[in-house]
Amino acid sequence: MKITLNPDAEIVRIVKEGLEKTGGYCPCRRERKEEYKCMCDEFKAQINDPEFEGYCHCMLYYKHKD
Ligand code: SF4
Repeated sequence: MKITLNPDAEIVRIVKEGLEKTGGYCPCRRERKEEYKCMCDEFKAQINDPEFEGYCHCMLYYKHKD
């Protein structure tokens, strides 16, 4: 298992800017809840799911199964 940044530098830049503005809360969600702090609970669950491969909700990170 491995986690990498999106190879699209423009997406990474936009999401990181968003994270700076929100103080670390997921920029693609409206609510400011603890579970939405990056890395959010949703992506952590996807990391722990052996079947999941793909991007996090904001497409900042990509989880590779192998
Ligand atoms: S969706 Fe991605 S960028 Fe957004 S909080 Fe979760 S891990 Fe971070």
